[in-house]
Amino acid sequence: MSSFADASLGSGQQLYRRARLRIPGGAQLLGKRPEQFLPGGWPAYYRRAQGCTIWDLDDRPYLDFTSNGIGTCLLGYADPTVNAAVADCIARGNMCTLNSPAEVDLADRLCALHPWAEQVRYARTGGEAMAIAVRLARATTGRPAVAFCGYHGWSDWYLAANLGESDALAGHLLSGLDPAGVPRALRGSALPFRYNQIAELEALVAARGPELAAIVMEPMRHEAPRDGFLAKVRAIADRCGAVLIFDEITAGWRSNFGGIHLTLGTVPDVAVFAKALSNGFPMSAIIGRRSVMEAAQQSFVSSTYWTEAIGPTAALATLERMAATEVSAHIAAVGARVQAGWAAAGARAGLPVKVAGIPALCLLGFEAGDQSRPLMTLFTQEMLARGFLAAAAFYPTAAHQTDLVDRYLEAVEAVFLGMRAALDRGAVAAALHGPVAQSGFARLT
Ligand code: PMP
Repeated sequence: MSSFADASLGSGQQLYRRARLRIPGGAQLLGKRPEQFLPGGWPAYYRRAQGCTIWDLDDRPYLDFTSNGIGTCLLGYADPTVNAAVADCIARGNMCTLNSPAEVDLADRLCALHPWAEQVRYARTGGEAMAIAVRLARATTGRPAVAFCGYHGWSDWYLAANLGESDALAGHLLSGLDPAGVPRALRGSALPFRYNQIAELEALVAARGPELAAIVMEPMRHEAPRDGFLAKVRAIADRCGAVLIFDEITAGWRSNFGGIHLTLGTVPDVAVFAKALSNGFPMSAIIGRRSVMEAAQQSFVSSTYWTEAIGPTAALATLERMAATEVSAHIAAVGARVQAGWAAAGARAGLPVKVAGIPALCLLGFEAGDQSRPLMTLFTQEMLARGFLAAAAFYPTAAHQTDLVDRYLEAVEAVFLGMRAALDRGAVAAALHGPVAQSGFARLT
């Protein structure tokens, strides 16, 4: 059996060895660590990306059937119209002493799409925009605590949930996050509840209602709201005087043009956008009711690079292109097709495949006990050998055209059959050229 250690390493893995010495954790984002996909074998770095094709450092092309830039590039990588708008912005100077008019145009556009919102502030990443939203809620209410559901970034306000109770985030998107470095004084300030479990939020409010500044959640991620869940959350927020913040960082723009809450019948007090808003250029927006947003005048919320012009320019161009091409309809069709393809190929191969998520955020799993993660690693390894980046999540983009999806599903069919054979022989681990992929948050040694 060949192994990644024996074979001559690709340039990407060689560079990653250097990175591990210089960059704690190897990468800036947990979800870009090669160990999360294929330890020793993942290409790790890219030289060029266009549409849904990525060329690695050895100029090998791959079709990307993973998260496509962590959910940022709905129009595909290096979209020509967005890039042209950004290139023009660069040529005119993306930064100077005065402000960019694109900020005002984008604010008008976002409020027109979300008529409940009156004002807008900007940042450049999702996590910092969520931190601003929580700060505004705390400043508006004068209260300290936050009830939340799901993942919202790396900030102290959020990681405080794990202080003292190491499993407080279990069942949320990333369990086991270590709050080292978060002051213990914040203990008890971030209170988790689970999606669709209204009784859990009610219990929090019964115990701590008068202290609650905000209720923070994604309006929808992998499962639809049940039994009027969102309307009940809205009513609870109104009753206890907490600001309702919808995190649309990943959900927004994919299933429909705008926040996904527009399709769910409940409006928040604040919504936060990032990622797909600007097709890969750093940008995030906090939109909300004037009564909450005005708190930005009392609390100090201010940063130099929140004023550069590429972010709002890219966002305006992205919104225009997403609307003109009806990208969300294409994404829904591609996602549904891939989900059905996984299920059918799994059934034909007799593999215990689990398909989950909405079509705009497709999830694949293997339910085989302690063989589940080795099977996913083998899937990634064998798909990579066929020229695909593939793992547990697939976020479709405009670039995933029918012929590319055909090629992907043909490869899935063949790889699933090989995985079934390995499972029958009890030889899944033996078929791997390196270690099993890590899942979730794991500290690198
Ligand atoms: N909230 C949600 C729902 C997210 O999916 C993410 C990123 N995965 C974040 C917040 C954090 O955004 P960022 O990584 O840009 O800081």
